[in-house]
Amino acid sequence: MLSSDQALLERRARLLGPAYRLFYEEPFHPVRGQGVWLYDQAGKPWLDAYNNVVCVGHARPEVVEAIARQGSTLNTHTRYLHEGILDYAERLLTTLPPELGHTTFTCTGSEANDLAMRVARAHTGGTGLIVTHWAYHGVTSAIAEASPSLGQHIVLGANVRTVPAPAAQPGQSAAECGRLFADGVRAAIADLQAHGIRPAALMVDTVFSSDGVFTDPAGFLQEAVEEIHAAGGVFIADEVQPGFGRTGDCFWGFQRHGVVPDMVTMGKPMGNGHPVAGMAVRPEVMAAFGRQSRYFNTFGGNPVSMAAASAVLDVIQGEGLQRNALEVGAYLRAGLASLAEKHSLVGEIRGAGLFVGMELVSSRAERTPATREASLVVNGLRRNGVLLSATGEHAHILKIRPPLVFSRENADFLISRVDEVLGLL
Ligand code: PMP
Repeated sequence: MLSSDQALLERRARLLGPAYRLFYEEPFHPVRGQGVWLYDQAGKPWLDAYNNVVCVGHARPEVVEAIARQGSTLNTHTRYLHEGILDYAERLLTTLPPELGHTTFTCTGSEANDLAMRVARAHTGGTGLIVTHWAYHGVTSAIAEASPSLGQHIVLGANVRTVPAPAAQPGQSAAECGRLFADGVRAAIADLQAHGIRPAALMVDTVFSSDGVFTDPAGFLQEAVEEIHAAGGVFIADEVQPGFGRTGDCFWGFQRHGVVPDMVTMGKPMGNGHPVAGMAVRPEVMAAFGRQSRYFNTFGGNPVSMAAASAVLDVIQGEGLQRNALEVGAYLRAGLASLAEKHSLVGEIRGAGLFVGMELVSSRAERTPATREASLVVNGLRRNGVLLSATGEHAHILKIRPPLVFSRENADFLISRVDEVLGLL
């Protein structure tokens, strides 16, 4: 490691304290980004196969210019009239089912989920929240208490219940996988009720990214959504990971499953790195919250954020990036799957569009998580010019979610590097 990077490590520890974590055995220090590439001080490029925030590419000129233009004209808040927020809300709503009629803007996905829970509680009169076994939904107190993947020391809220993620067995139908998932939701509802807690919401990341990337068979969410509705609760689709075209076949992850959520939360790619996030909601679900409280978020929905978000939508829609995610994602998954012939560690390749999970197993028959090997691969790739990470409770699933401008050529580069690194184990 460079001595200057060693000095940065020491400054971080001193200034930022013990809660921050870095990726990789050898921490990475990029100084510049462009498109799908990050560059270190020496100008060496790394392929960014991990960053779903910069969906239209690092340092994307259209977004940078929109931020600069609006920032040099006016930046205030949502207590003055401004067209920017309304123009963007209109555009955003056209991407969503017509049942969702209101939007609310925040700065982070965590805030969006936190607000969604407050809205769910006001609407249902309940407090119970059901999430998946290894979910991540954010950092606020209420949401961290519903994010078991934060680690074994996280104490889940007394009103929170977890259910197994819909991890389909090979060949399983959507109905069968959906029934098993709904069985978990039914049990969680019963347990909440047995403790005198009314269910308020089922909240899921619709690609189950922290649980291990579970996308198929499409349709498996339907029964669980019916179940939470029957119990008087609402369904919140956390689209922070899959939203904005990443899954290729649809603009939002929930659409793949043929369900209409009561609330949709979003963030990460929305501003290509500018902190803008939000929530879309059925008006009848928002009504009680609107009567009981006012909503103001100092930075959420400000003119600069809305200009950034609008520029991102321009690029996604103008360049057909959803279609690119579909095509390049399928190509990438096929290429990664072909590595199974050479490398016995390669298990199931899952995903939709440019959200890919590559399971590494020490026994295919037993599906034994190859946790240690996954860490070796992630760190080996980091040394060999590719950035990605691992997910799931056993951290044995390579998580690959590059910017949406990822090309076939980029996919070939990634596949060849994964092949090389697997060959070194
Ligand atoms: N939900 C999901 C599914 C996420 O992955 C994340 C962030 N990793 C969040 C919510 C929280 O978003 P933020 O970090 O913007 O608060």
